[in-house]
Amino acid sequence: MNLLGKNNFFVEKKYEMRNKKHFINWSNQYQCRPTYVHHPASTGEARNIIRQAVERKTKIRVFGSGHSPSDIAMSNYDLICSDRLNQILNINWDSQTIVTQAGVTLKELSEGLGQHGLALPNLGSISDQTVGGAIATATHGTGLNYGILSTIIQEITLVTALGEVIKISKDENSQLFNAAKCHLGSLGLVTELKLLTTKEFDLEVQEQPGTLENILDTLPKRLQADHYRFWYLPHVDKVWEWSATRKPPGKTTPRQNFFQRLQSWYQEKLIGYYTFELLLYLATYNQGLIPSINSWYVQQMFSQPKHSQGNSVDQFNFNCLFKQQVNEWAIPIEHTAEAILQIRQMIIKKDYQVHLPIEVRFVKGDDIWLSPCQGRDSCYIGVITYMPYGTSVNCQAYFKDYEQIMASLEGRPHWAKRFGPDAKEVENMYPHWNDFQKVRYQLDPNYLFSNSYSDRVLGKPQKSVLSYS
Ligand SMILES: Cc1cc2nc3c(=O)[nH]c(=O)nc-3n(C[C@H](O)[C@H](O)[C@H](O)COP(=O)(O)OP(=O)(O)OC[C@H]3O[C@@H](n4cnc5c(N)ncnc54)[C@H](O)[C@@H]3O)c2cc1C
Repeated sequence: MNLLGKNNFFVEKKYEMRNKKHFINWSNQYQCRPTYVHHPASTGEARNIIRQAVERKTKIRVFGSGHSPSDIAMSNYDLICSDRLNQILNINWDSQTIVTQAGVTLKELSEGLGQHGLALPNLGSISDQTVGGAIATATHGTGLNYGILSTIIQEITLVTALGEVIKISKDENSQLFNAAKCHLGSLGLVTELKLLTTKEFDLEVQEQPGTLENILDTLPKRLQADHYRFWYLPHVDKVWEWSATRKPPGKTTPRQNFFQRLQSWYQEKLIGYYTFELLLYLATYNQGLIPSINSWYVQQMFSQPKHSQGNSVDQFNFNCLFKQQVNEWAIPIEHTAEAILQIRQMIIKKDYQVHLPIEVRFVKGDDIWLSPCQGRDSCYIGVITYMPYGTSVNCQAYFKDYEQIMASLEGRPHWAKRFGPDAKEVENMYPHWNDFQKVRYQLDPNYLFSNSYSDRVLGKPQKSVLSYS
């Protein structure tokens, strides 16, 4: 049963991709040419594909929307594209639960839920990811009462590398649950998910400029908002904050008239996007222009307070502009001020010419073994380097120094994004690392679901680590 009705643009875009054997991630930085591309539409079809792959002794990986800014979804062997696992199977208003296939995008899911007066409790900056991809990498939004997206999972249907179909929940195969809720694509193919949603809601959003000192001094109070984040604006040394209150649905900011729409287009597209990209491109010839570009951009985009109210999806999501390299780590929340102040100091001391913004978000702790928020309420800090017109800008030294700061404050990298540490280092960041590896070995003893990313980031531990005592 398809509760969505018609396909949207994104599904059509994915359809084009289905006929290509060349897969590229969203930022165009990573690509692969798989030997076989599969498009299962059901758990049964997926199981057959995996059984055949086992017989052929090949490797296999799953590709969602390809929105991860890393090689996490890439494979030059067999690739399972989840684009035909695109049905919402059941929506139960009474229990506020939904059963969906894993290739449905968060956008499609929100649309389907909206038709039944329900919503996802929290979202990140975009909704183009598949739900399967988002949970695999611990995708998160912001708001200290809300965990990463995986925290709303009630049940997972997984096709393992042994070709078995298993249900995983707190009642069934419960010993696998905390591993399967954030699995980096390395436990098998997730075909279906049961999720706990919430009643539809609006967000009233207040955005305003501020100073870092002021915000850090009053952070606990600010964090009482339902959803709160801020962007530090390097070189300008200002902050732009975003604070949202959950409201019953209905009251939206009035529709804009023609002149207001023209003004919005001028501000958001002509200035905020096209001119900004052109200026950043010019700066690839002269990095010294970046501080002035940042100043100009803040003046244009982040100088006047803004107020709006509307549907939660539209308010959570925003235009992330053009291609970019991103690195984001989660630290225990108590290190927030120290981390951001150290990053500010590092940029000044090393005279790095860096793009804005540095994004700071807050997420509730959980007990999912490979969640960056495992065991602690967390602050995520993300740094960005745009790629104007696809041009790569060298950010290696900046990102490395940023990582050193985050690692020294008990940081853990966002699995989907670009980060340096390999399995040997990452292992020490997670108390349940070996527990996860045991589950991985149990479900995929021949590492069928491995790729260059998992070889680097998860490694292949010694057998002695993998046996249950
Ligand atoms: C512009 C932009 C904004 C973003 N904003 C945020 C944000 O606000 N917060 C945040 O946390 N992240 C954010 N991200 C990162 C994004 O949420 C993650 O990269 C997410 O994993 C992408 O989902 P995907 O469907 O594209 O998965 P892919 O990138 O295709 O795959 C990711 C991983 O999931 C695995 N996988 C996918 N589907 C399945 C399945 N059905 N079964 C088993 N494994 C599977 C893949 O094998 C791979 O290992 C953003 C990314 C972009 C490009």
